[in-house]
Amino acid sequence: MKIAFLASEVLPFAKTGGLADVAGALPKYLGRRGSDVHVLLPYYREVSRKAPAPSGSLTFRMDWLGRSQTFTSVEHRADGFTAHFIVNDDYFDREHLYATPDGDYPDNGERFAFFAKASLAVLKALDVRPDILHVHDWQAAIALAYLRFVFSGDPAFAETRTLFTIHNLAYQGQFPREILGRIGLPDGLFNMHDLEFYGKVNFLKAGIVYSDAVSTVSPRYSREIQTPEFGCGLDGLLKFKSDRLFGLLNGVDYAAWDPAVDKLIAAPFTPQDLTGKSKCKSALPLLIGLPPEAAASPVVGMVTRLAGQKGLDIVVEALEGLFELDIVLVILGTGESKIQAALADAQRRRPRQLGLKVAFDERVAHAIYAGSDMFLIPSRYEPCGLTQMYSLKYGTIPIVRATGGLDDSISEFDRAAGTGTGFKFEAAAAEDLVAAVKRAIIVFSKRDLWRRLVQNAMAEDFSWERAAGEYLKLYETVRAF
Ligand code: ADP
Repeated sequence: MKIAFLASEVLPFAKTGGLADVAGALPKYLGRRGSDVHVLLPYYREVSRKAPAPSGSLTFRMDWLGRSQTFTSVEHRADGFTAHFIVNDDYFDREHLYATPDGDYPDNGERFAFFAKASLAVLKALDVRPDILHVHDWQAAIALAYLRFVFSGDPAFAETRTLFTIHNLAYQGQFPREILGRIGLPDGLFNMHDLEFYGKVNFLKAGIVYSDAVSTVSPRYSREIQTPEFGCGLDGLLKFKSDRLFGLLNGVDYAAWDPAVDKLIAAPFTPQDLTGKSKCKSALPLLIGLPPEAAASPVVGMVTRLAGQKGLDIVVEALEGLFELDIVLVILGTGESKIQAALADAQRRRPRQLGLKVAFDERVAHAIYAGSDMFLIPSRYEPCGLTQMYSLKYGTIPIVRATGGLDDSISEFDRAAGTGTGFKFEAAAAEDLVAAVKRAIIVFSKRDLWRRLVQNAMAEDFSWERAAGEYLKLYETVRAF
């Protein structure tokens, strides 16, 4: 099968979040299964550092901003797929991908419309003729409008079926009406059945309206986004398309996230021999500014954006209740200053019970997954979530709010049956969070039960090998539409 991916960030070239993990790993594993995969992304400044040796380049003509112009793309052979970088230095040779610390780049609509249209022009010029065009998030979604209204009837896409994947519905790419004319789309699309959304043009809506099928990154989130609570104003439209809306869990790249081979942790360990995990636990306090005796208590870790989505405000409210359980809480994160301040304040009050590091730090992240006993994820919503899957592999028991991919990937531990992989709570409320941690602490105090739970967790398989197989099946379904 020939598959073309359009994504605005792809590992190992450019990353700001989970999209990059998926858009880098899925093509790799599809390629290993024999698909011919082409991945298109912008040639950002940081890409030139990460892919220094292009294997080819292409010059193509395209109408842009009202006139025919010449552009280039650069090709790079990556692990399992071919990457095509869309070059436009005015748009992409910048310090950041989407935003400076002061806010979004004001021309983001034009930048990503260019990327989307140019990606189709490159696929046409290279005569790729993809069977599946797999488009990700709002930055690429508008490609489906170009496919419908600019490339309609083009033999280059005669056999192409399209899948649009939503990684986070909260980011939609909304711009003033005037953008349509500027980026070369008909002004007539400004109506509620096409791209209009409450007086703005909504790029993500193009992905939903014009694709053959839509998917999101967990089955539960695919149902949640059809409700007003999670639908971000698009729940009605998504419900209307529900017979073509799918939910597939992301995978984990176990080459990077496996305690048996992880080079970033104090000592390796396996389900059969957990002595390395104790060493990792002993090493953790020093890394995070806690006294060494902290390792004698149950340690609950968090690696997270400090944002409302991730339920950090609930954690702040629950702190005193948690400290009363005689646990140690270890938090690594960056984000909202209000949350940072509240946590720093709590740390001053409880220096022996709260370890806090405000940084983006891969090594400390791995140390927390490996050295904690439990891992707390109280998200208000969670399209998929990766951190619960990582902690399972490290025998660190997830305590999660039952939403989105967290609910799909974690099952409540049943003490009588010995089944399950973690602890879940329903309401986004401090009491419920504390109650779930309490349940975990009770099991933790019973050695044999805890050992069983850790074995269950470590035996879980969320590999990309498996997830890529599910995407292949979905592609076959979409081709039959
Ligand atoms: P989201 O993409 O919504 O932030 P995910 O659970 O899908 O949440 O992915 C988060 C990823 O970012 C994980 O790989 C996690 O380890 C990593 N991460 C988050 N915050 C930090 C941090 N401060 N330092 C290092 N890694 C982090």
